[in-house]
Amino acid sequence: MRALRLTAWKSDPVLVEVPEPDPEPGQVVVRVAGAGACHSDLHLMRDFDEGSLPWGPPFTLGHENAGWVHRIGRGVTGLEPGMPVAVHGPWGCGFCSRCRLGIDTYCERPDAAPVPSGGGGLGLDGGMAEFLLVPDARFLVPLPPGLDPVTAAALTDAGLTPYHAVRRSWPKLPPGSTAVVIGVGGLGHLAVQILRATTAARVIAVDTRPKALDLALESGAHLALRSGGPDGTTAEVAARIREQTSGRGADVVLDFVGSDGTLALAAAIPRMLGDLTLVGIGGGRLDFSFFSPPYETSVQSTYWGSRPELAEVLELAAQGLLKPALTRFPLEEAMTAYRLMERGELVGRAVITPSAGEGGGA
Ligand code: NAD
Ligand code: ZN
Ligand code: ZN
Repeated sequence: MRALRLTAWKSDPVLVEVPEPDPEPGQVVVRVAGAGACHSDLHLMRDFDEGSLPWGPPFTLGHENAGWVHRIGRGVTGLEPGMPVAVHGPWGCGFCSRCRLGIDTYCERPDAAPVPSGGGGLGLDGGMAEFLLVPDARFLVPLPPGLDPVTAAALTDAGLTPYHAVRRSWPKLPPGSTAVVIGVGGLGHLAVQILRATTAARVIAVDTRPKALDLALESGAHLALRSGGPDGTTAEVAARIREQTSGRGADVVLDFVGSDGTLALAAAIPRMLGDLTLVGIGGGRLDFSFFSPPYETSVQSTYWGSRPELAEVLELAAQGLLKPALTRFPLEEAMTAYRLMERGELVGRAVITPSAGEGGGA
């Protein structure tokens, strides 16, 4: 089968022929309907070096996957070939106290997982191939009726990550509150939709690209501000947001970029007692002192999301409350998708469809 593989740090991935995987006991092979192209893949191609992570190339990209059960290893029950499933991407050891709660994102025994990795597409082979070996059936979540697996693919990270980030701030988002989303790309446009679907907060979106701001408004943002454009510098955008909140500031600020500039904006706009949540891995730093961010702002990073949260995101989409803006690319055009993302020409999420046209059968 064909697979898009990262073969070395600081390089573009290559499309090569690899053997089809065989499921061992407890494992499942999924025919991939969709594998989302995440900006984190660009960070993998550009930013990391030998030794900067506990795992590394070679591996097949694609950590945002859904498809149909294809082959089932011995001992797996409850799954049938052809069943549509989403893959919960962080693959932990399964035994530590965090994994036992279903929060493999915080696995404390990565050395006890099959091999050190962040999951499929992150050290282990991911979904940018016709078939994906899922090392344990517990990483699969059956799709609710009415949800197609290409849409579900994007929801496993571009949906799940902002869902987790918004969900942990729900207590700070009562009616009358304001949330700010910085960076309205694959994750950010779904953050806007998730805020609208699960809270009564007023949503302000910030991006540098007019097309991203159009998508923010289509996704339900009440106001979209262009930083570094007609709405002004970061400081001027911060002033607009303060003005929009009667001087108080935003209850929750979600930064989906994570550069020095966006973190400076994020620190300038919270309301006292607010949340400042960093999701983007742009490598920027936050200046932190007693006076900035405002008193008792909680500052946190968030990482991906849990299996129960994935089930909730899929349910929201099945109810029609999330509508990811997707562009589909065949496997041989995956690099086109990444180049468009890198140049800021992509709107919403790109999903690679390795099994396009082959229908839902096993
Ligand atoms: P994307 O490229 O689809 O979207 C990024 C958006 O940010 C674009 O719309 C871009 O125009 C906008 N942007 C860039 N610079 C900006 C600036 N200075 N001010 C305002 N907007 C700006 O990326 P994505 O796939 O949505 O990922 C977003 C970030 O989240 C990436 O850094 C990615 O690696 C990271 N990520 C983190 C997690 C996690 O668990 N924490 C999970 C997935 C992705
Ligand atoms: Zn990702
Ligand atoms: Zn674990």
